[in-house]
Amino acid sequence: MELLDLKIDDPETWGFPIGKPIIISGPCSAETEEQVMETALRLAKQNIHILRAGIWKPRTRPNAFEGIGSVGLPWLVAAGKAINKPVATEVANVKHVIEALNAGVDILWIGARTTVNPFAIQEIADALAGVNIPILVKNPINPDLELWIGALERISKAGITKLGAIHRGFSNYEKTKYRNKPNWELPMELKRRIPNLPIICDPSHICGTTEFLLEVSQEAMDLNMDGLMLESHINPKEAWSDAKQQVTPEDLGQLLSQLVLRKEKVEDVVALSKLEYMRTKIDKIDNDLIDMISKRMEIAREIGAHKKEQNITILQSNRWEEIIQKMLKVGKDKNLTDDFITKLFEIIHAESIHNQTQIMNTEKLVK
Ligand code: PEP
Ligand code: MN
Repeated sequence: MELLDLKIDDPETWGFPIGKPIIISGPCSAETEEQVMETALRLAKQNIHILRAGIWKPRTRPNAFEGIGSVGLPWLVAAGKAINKPVATEVANVKHVIEALNAGVDILWIGARTTVNPFAIQEIADALAGVNIPILVKNPINPDLELWIGALERISKAGITKLGAIHRGFSNYEKTKYRNKPNWELPMELKRRIPNLPIICDPSHICGTTEFLLEVSQEAMDLNMDGLMLESHINPKEAWSDAKQQVTPEDLGQLLSQLVLRKEKVEDVVALSKLEYMRTKIDKIDNDLIDMISKRMEIAREIGAHKKEQNITILQSNRWEEIIQKMLKVGKDKNLTDDFITKLFEIIHAESIHNQTQIMNTEKLVK
């Protein structure tokens, strides 16, 4: 897939000093003037860079707290001024954009439920034309990288050069450890496609509870993400939205102090040559993997031809079950998780079936 060259400024030049990792924190929702101010004052002591608060909240079901609305904008702006930090809020339509800009909000983000809708994104992009403030685009709720990239492109085309992405995980039907599955490969592929795009991880919305916040934040740092957005509330249990995933400003500080920040590159020559040696070993194994998979596909095609001759169906479910059970057992002995083995063989099996279907549907076999 081709690399995209969007015009993106270095976050260092976004108009305020930020260090990597960029830390954005604040309540899920602005609730009262006092709550926003107290959160800001307590967060300022934890060295955050940007204060966040949701003013308009997209809720799944009606009758939940849908945000305090425009009255909260001056609270947020005043709290930012009090601690001398830029403030950010979520916008989901043109009215939000206009009101937030008029109130003096420094940074806007587009929520996951808005990124999924190209019409909504285009309207927001048009409203932003000529206002080059930082815009952060959260991933869509479904794991669709093209949709995420499409939203970034629309905002970029409006002339925004202070562009960033927020990785907040992807919703799923099954119950999992996380509220939203991280699917780390998606933000990693986004980084490959748009290398100069800052990506901020939002562990709060990935986790849904406070239990794994540190683990997910650390993983984001290990993957060299550019920052973290973490929700913080002065009294999490009483929060009007996302109560289970918010931490007090002091607990946030505690979490940040436990993060291990690693260098991006190895500087020492000996360590570098050791890394390069290990990488050549990986490259050799990757080549062998492709060789083996290609041989496996060749045999799958032969089996396809044989099935055609015998006029039997491609998919024999007991055979697939047998393969997966056997490989799960082999995988366990070799330290490979069930989840990984299942995903790997699902991909290989799907490709085999695809190859066999093609053979079945060619009129005459070319021998
Ligand atoms: C939020 O940041 O509070 C929020 C609603 O996020 P998301 O769009 O990721 O659900
Ligand atoms: Mn929230």
